[in-house]
Amino acid sequence: MDPFIDRARTFPQRAGQAGRALDGLATGQSPRALFITCSDSRVVPALITGSAPGDLFELRTAGNMVPAYRADSASGETATIEYAVDVLGVRDIVVCGHSHCGAVGAVVRDDDLSVVPAVRSWLSNADRNVLRADGTDVFDPTVAGPVQRHVLAQLEQLRAYPGVARRLLDGRVRLHGWFYEVHTGLVLAHRSDSGLFLPL
Ligand code: ZN
Repeated sequence: MDPFIDRARTFPQRAGQAGRALDGLATGQSPRALFITCSDSRVVPALITGSAPGDLFELRTAGNMVPAYRADSASGETATIEYAVDVLGVRDIVVCGHSHCGAVGAVVRDDDLSVVPAVRSWLSNADRNVLRADGTDVFDPTVAGPVQRHVLAQLEQLRAYPGVARRLLDGRVRLHGWFYEVHTGLVLAHRSDSGLFLPL
């Protein structure tokens, strides 16, 4: 922890040396995109996208899960998405899954999650049959196929959010499905024309 504390202590100086004018952020935020990804420590959106403070509004959940929209649910995930879309007016939403995802792998393999019942409950948001649609890649350690199908399922959940649905109709928001390889740094994006995830 000590290195983190040291670097946090010197962050104002380091930001200044990097030419980052943080004082402009006091007037508010106008992020370019909502970036939804897994809580996994190997996925670092700012590094992957080269973004600076103020660029990305982030939502990180176990397995980059997007819960179904319910206006009456006290869901931090739903609230974060609704705020990004309806208040901040983000123009782009990225759902970024990643290789070797423990959450998706647990669903695909039907792991025993009885010691982490809250995790089990959260992961029940994912449809195992959708993730295992292929059937041949269940034991692939990268879980690339299941994660990519999972990303597409989360995009479908997003489309049902009222603010997203309205903005999709008139082109005010665009959805992006990404897959990040933690062991290579490669980013693949879903192409609607081919239905495939291909390098950006
Ligand atoms: Zn993950």
